Amino acid sequence: MLIVPETAIADLVSRDDAFQAVEAVFAAMAAGKAYNFPVIREAIGHADALYGFKGGFDRAGMALGLKAGGYWPNNLATQGIINHQSTVFLFDPDTGRMQAMVGGNLLTALRTAAASSVSIKHLARPDAKVLGMVGAGHQAAFQLRAALEQREFEKVIGWNLHPEMLDRIEAVAAEAGVPFERVELDGMTEADVIITITSSFDPILMQGHVSPGTHIACMGTDTKGKQELDPALVAAATVFTDEVAQSISIGECQHAVGAGLIAETAVNEVGAVINGTHPGRSSDAEITIFDGTGVGLQDLAVAASAVERAVQAGTAVEVDF
Ligand code: NAD
Repeated sequence: MLIVPETAIADLVSRDDAFQAVEAVFAAMAAGKAYNFPVIREAIGHADALYGFKGGFDRAGMALGLKAGGYWPNNLATQGIINHQSTVFLFDPDTGRMQAMVGGNLLTALRTAAASSVSIKHLARPDAKVLGMVGAGHQAAFQLRAALEQREFEKVIGWNLHPEMLDRIEAVAAEAGVPFERVELDGMTEADVIITITSSFDPILMQGHVSPGTHIACMGTDTKGKQELDPALVAAATVFTDEVAQSISIGECQHAVGAGLIAETAVNEVGAVINGTHPGRSSDAEITIFDGTGVGLQDLAVAASAVERAVQAGTAVEVDF
């Protein structure tokens, strides 16, 4: 069995590796070659933690396994480590033997950023110039870095409930040489692409905050009860997701579908656009939404990429197990 520790991931997996892995697995899911197992997520009644498992099998990429982990809200304050903690376990699909154990923290950020980035590649208008960020936490910086690679963005605008956190994404925009401006939510009408990546439980981005032709990557809503978008905005858009079952149960579409504003059948897999079986954006005025809920197969795909890179670099730790 191979071990790829958390500390090795940054040197092994590039943004491009993560993008390729996630795009391929979304395509495999839409082609029926990969599927996710039901998600388990439990409040364990200790340290205020939410812990669970996301797993699946990708027959195209031959990745079988799970990500175990969750959210410990007091970690940063009490231990000086990040609140999201996870590890990916990969198994040999032919024998069931453990293949690898891979640090999952940075991989989670990379695969989540890759997901919205894949959606921007396939759904945003080619002439998109202004990128809007709603949220400025840990994930937001990864999201912004990856998104900036997808179009010739000339400006980043940002809003966050806690405005002092916007320094983080302002720094990423500066790194990329793109001007940054803080805006109120109604200033988001200037954006051609908007990424929402917050922990909100109420709608933030309302229909009036979004112009025709905008692509929205809604990335924060990954749990029952969370919400970032006005359901009327969701109903007015063409909606895509990583996995329909998650979108309508733990993703943003739980609200619009729950309220009867859209049917489950109106939610499309982004993988179908990648595969060319769905045409994707149909006009420059259409609002598209990617409801990125985060699937276990994304974790397996980037972990498999980390293992491959570690083997190539000769840095994977081999354990007789
Ligand atoms: P974080 O704690 O570092 O940042 C949280 C962000 O949400 C900050 O911008 C904060 O100001 C904002 N926020 C907090 N409460 C809010 C509220 N009530 N209204 C509006 N904004 C609020 O978290 P993070 O690691 O950046 O993660 C952000 C979100 O993304 C979380 O909800 C997390 O569960 C989710 N997430 C999704 C995926 C996925 O695959 N879709 C993957 C990882 C994380």
